[in-house]
Amino acid sequence: MNPGTIKTDSPLDVFLKVLKEDKYLEHITKAVKDNKKSIVIDYEDVLNINPNIARAIIEKPEEMMIPGLNALRLVMVDLELTTSPKPISELLPPELKLIKIPIRHIRYSNVEEISLKDIRGEYVNKLVTVRGIVRSSGRLSGKPYQYTYKCPNHRDIPPVQKLADDPVPICTKDNCNTKMDIVSKDTVWEDILTIQIQEPPETAKSSNPKRIKATLEGDIAREEIEAGDILKITGMVATERVKNRDEYYIKGINIDLEDKKYEEIEMTEEDIQAIQDLAKLPPEVLEQKIINTIAPRIQGYKEVKEAIALQLFGGVSGSRIDNAHIRGDIHILLLGDPGIGKSDTLNYISDNLAPRSIYTDGKLSSGVGLTAITSMKEGDEWEVEAGAMVLADKGLCIIDEFDKMKDEERDNLNTPLEQQKVHIAKASGMITLNSRCSVLIGANPKGGRLTDKPIREQISFPDTILSRMDLTFILKDVPNTKMDGAIADVIIDEDIEEEVYKKGIDAELLRKYIAYARQNIHPRRIEDPEVKKALKEYYVDARQTTGKNGDEDSPIPISPRLIRALKRLTQARARMFLREDIIYEDGAKAIQLLEYCQNTVGMDPFTGKVDLDIMEGRPGGGEKKFKPIVRMLMIEKTEEMGSISWYSHSGEHREEVIDAILEESRKEGLAKVTRKMAEEGLQEAVEWEYSYIKEGK
Ligand SMILES: [Zn+2]
Repeated sequence: MNPGTIKTDSPLDVFLKVLKEDKYLEHITKAVKDNKKSIVIDYEDVLNINPNIARAIIEKPEEMMIPGLNALRLVMVDLELTTSPKPISELLPPELKLIKIPIRHIRYSNVEEISLKDIRGEYVNKLVTVRGIVRSSGRLSGKPYQYTYKCPNHRDIPPVQKLADDPVPICTKDNCNTKMDIVSKDTVWEDILTIQIQEPPETAKSSNPKRIKATLEGDIAREEIEAGDILKITGMVATERVKNRDEYYIKGINIDLEDKKYEEIEMTEEDIQAIQDLAKLPPEVLEQKIINTIAPRIQGYKEVKEAIALQLFGGVSGSRIDNAHIRGDIHILLLGDPGIGKSDTLNYISDNLAPRSIYTDGKLSSGVGLTAITSMKEGDEWEVEAGAMVLADKGLCIIDEFDKMKDEERDNLNTPLEQQKVHIAKASGMITLNSRCSVLIGANPKGGRLTDKPIREQISFPDTILSRMDLTFILKDVPNTKMDGAIADVIIDEDIEEEVYKKGIDAELLRKYIAYARQNIHPRRIEDPEVKKALKEYYVDARQTTGKNGDEDSPIPISPRLIRALKRLTQARARMFLREDIIYEDGAKAIQLLEYCQNTVGMDPFTGKVDLDIMEGRPGGGEKKFKPIVRMLMIEKTEEMGSISWYSHSGEHREEVIDAILEESRKEGLAKVTRKMAEEGLQEAVEWEYSYIKEGK
């Protein structure tokens, strides 16, 4: 074959064909008018005209920039948007084109997407598009784009302009051979922004999502790009030397910021049909199937699984008439003994069921924490780095081993948990990042094992967290022959394991079902008077039982938070059945779950009654009565006997004093005070008294 006989379009011809389409002529005219420095070419348009050139754009993007910009320049001359120093046909060396035309960059959209974790050697110097979440975003800074040079010896010759990357020009006049000087006032600058992106929450599995650095230059370097944003970035894969090794990064040439939705899962017609078929099952069957799909290998824990199911569907977020944010997201805390499958459950939810989730583990100590930090990078470059709750915006944030997290990493969680925003100081002032996520926390008790003490004394993190939880579960590792047998069966026998999974729904289908429900179903208002009545009665009752409205020791009286939690759980249950209407059973289930938690977490060990103060991490009514009883008796007995040593430690009147404490406690309605509690109470009071004496007060 004689290559001379085949007429092929040159890259310049192809770019000219593309740019002479009407939509590009309009785009270019508008770009120049708006003083823009770039235009965007739809990659598909090149592909339609000439697949070979389109391929070349991917394979050698740097090289293909030149014909692209040359074509752009010719089109602009045609449009009389720029002047040409020479006849159009005579093309100038590439760097001059870049200088003389008002538009410097060609950006591509619709370049085929690859997964961020697939970036490796074969992509270096090639054009790719990846989708990711902004993990950190630095400060917008400047970078010289073009220098103007003059010869120090020949002031009369015209200045020379070169791109910043080009070598310094040498003066050639009269064998001068001198390096020319930069005229600094004429330097043309360009914005540059460095960001770190990581795999998006929809695809990242629980451990170690991959991260990569990206640089953005020119008009795509925008200060409003914040940690937590989701974007598609098109650019060249490049390498840079970092601490003796070459690391990949992306030289971005285009970005596309996404509007964040809870859900980015693609759904086919068949998926939607399958989802609607599921919703037609009898409610009790569907509910049971959903529960069976939540960590099927972990047997039991029905209420926890019900709660997690409701959390995945979520209540309905919105804003009040006064514009205050209403949180629809449900927060859950699982405080439990080690070895009961907490971590397995959390991992399972993250990997299989949550449409969008971020998983973090206190043991791993990422150093980034849960909200966001401002950190100093090399030089004096400040950078805002997003923590788990920001990255999980519009999704689920799963925090395992919360107790092992450093204090500074979990500080200031109250605002993000309630208002779902993170405020952080940046060089340019305060910025606000969104953290509109639900939070599922797994934690071990202080001292490793759960005891009968109030929850406040069993957690190693700030007790205010408790008041931000919609549901808190205390999960004791109690030997249970039937349950332990069932757990063993699942592990030992693969047929039984298969059976267990069959009782649920295919996890991927449930994930899509959840996404579909969150996207399309918004059961906001409770219309049914029966539901309203039930919720109200429950709330009023709860306040009555606690009986301490406006207690002066209680900075936050039994709060309307409780009723908000109920509302969220009620909405979530309606959503679970793809219902816009809230029915009585939704409210009943919400109450049932809340009561279940209260009966364990909120149980006052002194009275045997539920106390919402305890649930929210404050001293309960029983404790508040019990301590003064012990103190009073101590003072009385010391006066009677003459010395504290008669009953402290192994003093001979010790049992007598303990009997008195028990008797007085009963009289005051503290029916559940045991001998052991009385002993511990007395011991504590005695030690307090001794330390008081020692300090000589
Ligand atoms: Zn010279």
